[in-house]
Amino acid sequence: MRHSASFAVLILLIMPAIASQKSYRVGRSKTGLGLFATKPIKKGTRIIRYYGPILDSRIPEQDDIENKYLFELNGRWTIDGSVRKNLARYINHSCRPNAESDVRPRERKVFIRAIKNIEPGDEINYDYGTDYFKAYLKPIGCKCPSCETKRKKLRAEARVERAKVKARAERKAQKAGPKAAKKKKLNGHAVGKKNGRARA
Ligand SMILES: [Zn+2]
Repeated sequence: MRHSASFAVLILLIMPAIASQKSYRVGRSKTGLGLFATKPIKKGTRIIRYYGPILDSRIPEQDDIENKYLFELNGRWTIDGSVRKNLARYINHSCRPNAESDVRPRERKVFIRAIKNIEPGDEINYDYGTDYFKAYLKPIGCKCPSCETKRKKLRAEARVERAKVKARAERKAQKAGPKAAKKKKLNGHAVGKKNGRARA
């Protein structure tokens, strides 16, 4: 009895220490779930390990495993990151990321490391790489913050351009209005100039 009580106390003492070591939490992101910083993370810091059983492509049953959390170490070894314990699987892709994957094929380990100073509340992300991008993101359009911002900017620019074109056309129509009308009366073929059919 005394033993288990002290054990419980020990756990209570250890738990917050473990919890406070973590600099991230799983949270809601724009595209589903994501991993977010809970503390300032300095550039260059290892944030989390991308963890899971190691699959050997030379073993057919292991080579057959298919899910979207597979992290290829090299031609032979792949980490199956679909396990619950692997919180790094929540990290979303970004084309302008604040972290990167530090791949160590010899140790068969992958760490996610900050490449910028990350502030509490920031979503942590890394670039999944060209192959993943082409296979999964390009067909549906990348929804990373950088691409969303780019798209928004392009849409805004297109809106401004359309408004300009419209204003220009209106000004032109206003200016040319009386003249065009006169011209039409003079030669009767003002429209024909444009499509060439009226001459025939
Ligand atoms: Zn993107």
